[in-house]
Amino acid sequence: MADSFGAALSAPHKPHPWVYLDSEIVAAAEALVPTTTQAFNYGTAVFEGIRAYASGNGELNVFRLDDHLKRLERSARLLLLKDLPRLPEMRAIILDLLRRNQASTDSYIRPLAYKKALLPGFGFGVKLTGVSTGLAINTLAMGAYMPADGIHCAVSSWRRIPDSSLPARAKITGSYANSALAMESAQRIGCDDALMLNVHGNLAESTTSNVFVVRDGQLITPPLSAHILEGITRDTVITLARDELGLKVIERDVSFSELFSVDECFLAGTGVEVVPVTQIDDCKLQESGVGEISTAIRRLYLETVRGLNTKYARWLTPVSN
Ligand code: PMP
Repeated sequence: MADSFGAALSAPHKPHPWVYLDSEIVAAAEALVPTTTQAFNYGTAVFEGIRAYASGNGELNVFRLDDHLKRLERSARLLLLKDLPRLPEMRAIILDLLRRNQASTDSYIRPLAYKKALLPGFGFGVKLTGVSTGLAINTLAMGAYMPADGIHCAVSSWRRIPDSSLPARAKITGSYANSALAMESAQRIGCDDALMLNVHGNLAESTTSNVFVVRDGQLITPPLSAHILEGITRDTVITLARDELGLKVIERDVSFSELFSVDECFLAGTGVEVVPVTQIDDCKLQESGVGEISTAIRRLYLETVRGLNTKYARWLTPVSN
């Protein structure tokens, strides 16, 4: 199946042969870490999910690479992950790895900075200081995997972890146990993903994406204070909606019951891209399928990441030299 932009849906994820691990590029089969790795035991790693898109002229461009790397730096600071390459070096490592992997089709990039091993003189235990830092970067060939005609979401009984317990703005591996629980229970009842409420009972985000709703032609999304990740796609959507569609975008709390009275809803994230939600729990949002605003934003987003919208060329980093 292919959507109107030519990306294969449910495309297989094909890992690239080379992986960056702790200052070296090694064959994927040799990119191994010991079972004693601190991050493996305690969930103390931070990561990014980044996409690179093939443009019409055969060039592969990474979308908003520096913004992802800035977020990685901030996430790393929260977990006291020290001695990581600075942003320009990290950018060069990623581009170099993609070239080494001869990536030419849509790709996914996963840098992961992790708590590695106790430093000499530091005793056993759950801690952040006295632990060395590791860095792994995997890349894979990956196309779109969400359907253009929309998905069904369940409102999860699992609440989003409060920011005061685990920082929501940081992509910490440990917090994804929360996402996995919500995703699992949603899929077990036949839904595609879950909408998660925060400790106040308002909409937070989905398991791996931010959420937008449309009411009376206005775009509404929970504020950063709603215990959500500061999504880069969220920011892209807000920019495109305001500047290209002239829409009013409001960042405000969305209560549980409001979810069932919206005109449209869609998820926005690097992995899912922009995917319409056509049903929440047992409530169909639109008898006619995908709403107009969701369709327009999805189209604009896919044009932008593929370099068809030259106004946003600043968001693209070419992989080739
Ligand atoms: N929320 C969560 C929990 C996520 O994992 C992601 C994916 N990184 C997002 C939102 C969307 O963020 P982005 O648009 O930066 O990929």
